[in-house]
Amino acid sequence: MTTTPSPTLPTPAGHFGAFGGNYTPETLHHAISQLTQAYDQARNDPAFNKQFTQLLRDYVGRATPLHYAQRLTEHVRKSEGKSRGGGTSGGGGLWLKREDLAHIGAHKINNSLGQGLLTVRMGKKRVIAETGAGQHGVATATAAAFLGLSCDVFMGTEDIRRQQPNVKRMKLLGANVVPVESGSCTLKDATNAAMRDWMATSEHTHYIIGSVVGPHPYPMIVRDFQSVIGIEAREQSLDQIGKLPDHLVASVGGGSNAAGLFYPFINDTSVKMVGVEAGGRSTNLGDHAAPLTYGSPGVLHGSRSYVLQNNDGQTAPVHSISAGLDYPGVGPEHAYWHDTGRVQYTDCTDQEALKAFTLLTKTEGIIPALESSHAVAHAIKMAKNLPQDQTIIINLSGRGDKDLDEAIRLLEFEKKR
Ligand SMILES: *Cc1c(COP(=O)(O)O)cnc(C)c1O
Repeated sequence: MTTTPSPTLPTPAGHFGAFGGNYTPETLHHAISQLTQAYDQARNDPAFNKQFTQLLRDYVGRATPLHYAQRLTEHVRKSEGKSRGGGTSGGGGLWLKREDLAHIGAHKINNSLGQGLLTVRMGKKRVIAETGAGQHGVATATAAAFLGLSCDVFMGTEDIRRQQPNVKRMKLLGANVVPVESGSCTLKDATNAAMRDWMATSEHTHYIIGSVVGPHPYPMIVRDFQSVIGIEAREQSLDQIGKLPDHLVASVGGGSNAAGLFYPFINDTSVKMVGVEAGGRSTNLGDHAAPLTYGSPGVLHGSRSYVLQNNDGQTAPVHSISAGLDYPGVGPEHAYWHDTGRVQYTDCTDQEALKAFTLLTKTEGIIPALESSHAVAHAIKMAKNLPQDQTIIINLSGRGDKDLDEAIRLLEFEKKR
């Protein structure tokens, strides 16, 4: 954490260029300034950093490996060679940052654990969280169990129906899953409900937001806690490859696994970065979840960023094969990186992600989360057009066990078509 680099953003008021800030009702201002202060003290406290680092090692199992995906790389080189009529001159090397091997099977635990420690530091006894696919809910329920905090997770009733295994996990971990029956009964609505709860309970409750979204200081805090991904990847790349990577690729929902990988490389101008949003089933509004690719600036959940909205400024419905990318907004720092050109953003479709899911499973024996499959799909496309000495690090943000039923159902459906 102390080793995060220092483009000094956000500003003290939480702005990343034209994005970010704090657009919350006054009832939350006290809790937010309390959090700002607590984090400011914690990040400068060697004891806090030491405790967090030790837990990341002994409890989460870090460092997660950087794995050379040799068979996947060879597969891409062969198919590319064939399409060029022979030869194997093209095809960059594909490396996987294995966040799927972190405790709970995804990167989300890094943030929930960090914010759990902040909760204890603030003397609060209860945490709340929003969840869509249930991954952030499970991460937060896990941190709460470990730290002895009580935990309520807000979840849309539609998501509760679709994500039963994670609902069961949260309950086993001792969390209370609060069904949210409003709007589309999904993540956006769960976030609204969590914010409402926090307004009434902030004296003894901390709201653990699950991605680099929400009002300042959340986007900064979550980025910093997730930066361990990029800090490790940078060291591992120098050590294992002997140079910095040429490209980084990560999926973007709210943007936390991408920010965690990208941020420690942000001053390394030779390193190119791509964030991959959920292209869903078509480019029509409502059929995807790609605000940086198809959206426009607006305010959602307390901060200014790119948002998917209709002409009246109403937040649009979203779709993705992957529940963890199914969000109409994105972190404000990504909006800034998008507008300044530091990071490229693109999208890939449900079909492309599903194909990459199968290919990685068959070539490497690693079943990726459908979210991470979006990054894999795009990295494969990129690798085809790169010389062999170029390297790409893909953030394998999570494992795919949670997606088996959905993936198998879709693959069967494909076969029948
Ligand atoms: C939640 C989730 C994502 C998307 O969230 P970000 O904040 O964009 O990282 C990606 N991958 C996995 C495995 C997730 O659980």
